[in-house]
Amino acid sequence: MANPKRRHSRERGRLRRTHYKVKVRNLSTCPQCSGLKLPHKVCPHCGYYKGRQIIEIKTAEEKKKEREKKRKG
Ligand SMILES: [Zn+2]
Repeated sequence: MANPKRRHSRERGRLRRTHYKVKVRNLSTCPQCSGLKLPHKVCPHCGYYKGRQIIEIKTAEEKKKEREKKRKG
């Protein structure tokens, strides 16, 4: 296996890391609930895409009930 001959400086490593940046995702607004969503994806707030309901959005209460069901069953 190839190995580095010398350890490189802290500066070199830090200079490389100056290019590590967090990118802001493109967001569009949902025509159904006017919430923010990723373009070409089902809305995470209402579950709609192209004017149709694709997935059901569970409320926090429904999720809690489901968890309790799983624990019992
Ligand atoms: Zn929506």
